[in-house]
This record gives sequence, C-alpha cells and structure tokens, in this order.
Amino acid sequence: MPDYAVLDAALTRVGVPFTKEESMAAHTSFKIGGPADRFLRIADAAALSAALRALREAAVPYFVLGNGSNLLVPDEGLRGAVLALEGSFKAVELTGSGRLLCGSGASLASICAFARSNALTGLEFAWGIPGSLGGALYMNAGAYGGEMKQVVSRVWFLEPDGTPASLAGEALCFGYRTSAFTNTKRVITKAELQLESGAEAEIAVKMDDLMQRRKSKQPVELPSAGSVFKRPEGHFAGSLIESCGLKGCAVGGACVSEKHAGFIVNRGGATCADVEKLIEHIQETVLRETGVQLEPEIRRVRL
Ligand code: FAD
Repeated sequence: MPDYAVLDAALTRVGVPFTKEESMAAHTSFKIGGPADRFLRIADAAALSAALRALREAAVPYFVLGNGSNLLVPDEGLRGAVLALEGSFKAVELTGSGRLLCGSGASLASICAFARSNALTGLEFAWGIPGSLGGALYMNAGAYGGEMKQVVSRVWFLEPDGTPASLAGEALCFGYRTSAFTNTKRVITKAELQLESGAEAEIAVKMDDLMQRRKSKQPVELPSAGSVFKRPEGHFAGSLIESCGLKGCAVGGACVSEKHAGFIVNRGGATCADVEKLIEHIQETVLRETGVQLEPEIRRVRL
C-alpha cells in the first residue's frame, strides 16, 4: 500500500521539493489531465537517487515526465508521483569534436539551438518537436527523415532500484517510436549526441525551412499531443483518417484537426474521456472503411 506520510517525510528530509494534487493539465501540451497525488521537482542526480529511494520505501508508483508533449493523462489524475527533471538536468555542453553531453530535461529546442550556434549539423530534424531529450529518447522521436537513433551515441539512466547504468549502439534498441526505455521504469538522466561540423547559416536555413513546413501543415496553434497514431505500414494515418471523412469529427472538446487529420486538437475543455472516445471512433471507422488498424503513438499514462 502506498504510504504518502512516509514519502512526504522522506522527501522533506532529503530536500526534494514537491506539491500535492498538482493538475497535470498544466504540464501536458494537450492541456488535459487530472491531479497527480505528488509532483516532485528534481534538481540533480543526487536528488533523483534520493527520490527513487523514498518512493521505494513508501511503495508509491512513479511516472517520469518530459515536456508532456506526447501524453494523455486520465481525468481522474494519477495515484502516485510524477517526477519532473529540472535544474542540472537541463544542461547542454560541448565535450569534444561534434560531441554534446545533454541532460535529459533539456528541451530539444535548446539542444538544436545550441548545435546551430556551434555550427553542428545532424539534429535539424528535431527543430519543432516540442519534447525534452528524455522524452525524445524514450520515443525515438523523429521527423522529416531524421530520428534520435541517428545522433545518439550513449544514454545514461537509473534502473528503478536506483542502480546507475548506460547503454550505447544496438543495445539502445531504437525502433519506430520505441527504445530500450519503452514500457520500463528506467529514468534517463543524460545522453551523448554525436553531430558533424557544418555551416551555421546552412543549418539555420534548414531549421527555418522545417519549422515553416511544420507550421503550414500542423495545427500548432491549438493544444494537441502531436500525431495520435503511428504511421501504418504503406500508409499515412492522416490520409486514411481524412479519406474516411473524419476531419472535424468531434467528441466534446476533442476534435480531429481540420488542418491535419492525424492530429486530435483540444478546441476547449476537452477531457481525456473525450479524446479516448474519439480515438476509438477513428480506429473503428478506419478499420471498417480501409481495413487498416491504427495504433496510437500518444502515451496514455497509467501508474
Ligand atoms: P513526454 O510526453 O513527457 O513523455 C513521453 C514518454 O517519455 C513518457 O512515457 C515518459 O515517461 C517518457 N520520458 C520522458 N522523459 C523521460 C526520462 N527522462 N526518462 C525516462 N522516460 C522519460 N514526435 C515526433 O516523434 N515527431 C514529431 O514531428 C512530433 N511533432 C509533434 C508536434 C506537436 C505539435 C506535438 C504536440 C507533439 C509532437 N510530437 C512529435 C510528439 C512529442 O513531442 C514527442 O514524442 C516527444 O519526444 C515527447 O517528448 P516529451 O519530453 O514531451 O515526453
């Protein structure tokens, strides 16, 4: 049985700040999600180890939050603790020729901007993906022909029991939106990225171009969690959904984007239940009309 009194006392003792009943809608790009019992702000590696120890001692389940840009959090919230990696986890530094060492809490935007200003090429594809490095590694995020797999050389993490470990190369098991971290309780702490020397002006032009393409095709002005479904073999999810006449189809405040049918947007007041019903309706319709089974890419958070 989770013992929150034990957890609170242990966190206070080791100086890890936390809040109670923290609305997850404030921490997700969908602006959806009920309260988390505990929300822990973790500043550095020592605080992370102490927090994992406290969670184990109190038998409280946890979830590691990145930027919350690929998540669907239940309306009833989360009975457990959410870990937000802040402080030194946001650091980005140049450690060698084309080599960056980045904290898992750093945003892809800050890492891309750092790479550009150091005339390093290879990460432009990630410009505009609104995630943190940790979330991007967990998901093997990708766009416009690039994916994290191509630029990551080593990832450091903690096993759920707090044991530090690292993985490199094939052992990272990167696949289409999956990695060695998918469906585990491992906590990614940092990663080394290997980029190539380039020309800052050319890198900037490529980044601007990709951002422009993104803004012209995606409903970036409305809350969403990006593409709802994985790309089915031989198809595009958005085209299949559009071909079934589902653009604009809505359940409550959740609506299939008119701009890109692969996105569900929160047009105001959407609940997790609205999104889940809409996902189900899209899956059933697309299967019936086209024979293709769509598989969600967004992560439904369960503790
Ligand atoms: P979160 O959504 O917070 O979490 C995702 C998963 O990663 C969770 O299971 C979480 O527990 C885990 N996680 C996060 N940090 C850690 C950590 N430190 N250790 C262990 N596990 C961790 N995705 C793409 O791939 N390509 C795109 O082009 C793209 N475009 C998007 C456009 C929009 C407008 C939006 C809203 C989303 C888009 N996404 C895209 C989806 C999303 O941005 C990516 O999946 C991103 O990698 C998620 O990162 P995050 O930090 O927000 O992770």
